[in-house]
Amino acid sequence: MSRRFLIAGNWKMNKTPSEGHELASGIGQFVKKDESVEVVVCPTYPALDRVSQAIEGTAVKLGAQNLYPKASGAYTGEISAEMLRAVFVKYVILGHSERREYFAESDDFINDKVKFSLENLLHPILCIGETLEQREAEQTLDVVKKQLLGGLEGVSKADLNNVVIAYEPVWAIGTGKTATPEMAQEVHAFIRKLLTEAYDDNASQKTRILYGGSMKPSNAADLLAQEDIDGGLIGGASLEVNSFCDLVDAARNAG
Ligand code: PEP
Repeated sequence: MSRRFLIAGNWKMNKTPSEGHELASGIGQFVKKDESVEVVVCPTYPALDRVSQAIEGTAVKLGAQNLYPKASGAYTGEISAEMLRAVFVKYVILGHSERREYFAESDDFINDKVKFSLENLLHPILCIGETLEQREAEQTLDVVKKQLLGGLEGVSKADLNNVVIAYEPVWAIGTGKTATPEMAQEVHAFIRKLLTEAYDDNASQKTRILYGGSMKPSNAADLLAQEDIDGGLIGGASLEVNSFCDLVDAARNAG
């Protein structure tokens, strides 16, 4: 089954609204209207509206980096799905390792957000991945299984269609260390096998599994050539027009 490549930029806590507007405008000029690759940018909350304006009329889609799983109310500092949809957000990154680590987000809480996003017509990008300590203790597959099945608990087969998984080994995020294509493929194939067991082969084959962790133009082609790698969630290399567009190009060529 052919899955459409997805290249998503996670800007993290970078770019003011005007810087974001400039970056998104540059990306928008590069991405074709009938683009073979799906392209998503995920700015900070204050930049969402300006970035949304910058990509209007282009094929670039907007993502957010988080949400709170309640409709509205007394949740100081949080953002609702409705607010995100109001500025045309389509995707939302959930369970990123930085949120798991610095904000103590559990699989249960992430699962609430995944389900809430789906109920509110947003596509979750569910991030999972092991730390270096866990890899060295040979716990990678156990950790990935717990985070995947925990994050997807109660998600129906129909809804899985709207979910993207991102395998991000924590030791590779922002470190310059990338998993080798073989290491990444092994875990991606394992994730697909888990999806087949939890749902069925058809649902599993349709689900996109992104790789994240120091993906850059120099290593993207080898990673994207792997059978079960369907794109990338990009941090550092998403902050400049040229490097991000080179990654879009790598995905075009891999398709
Ligand atoms: C990320 O934060 O999702 C990520 C993959 O970052 P980087 O590309 O900088 O490793």
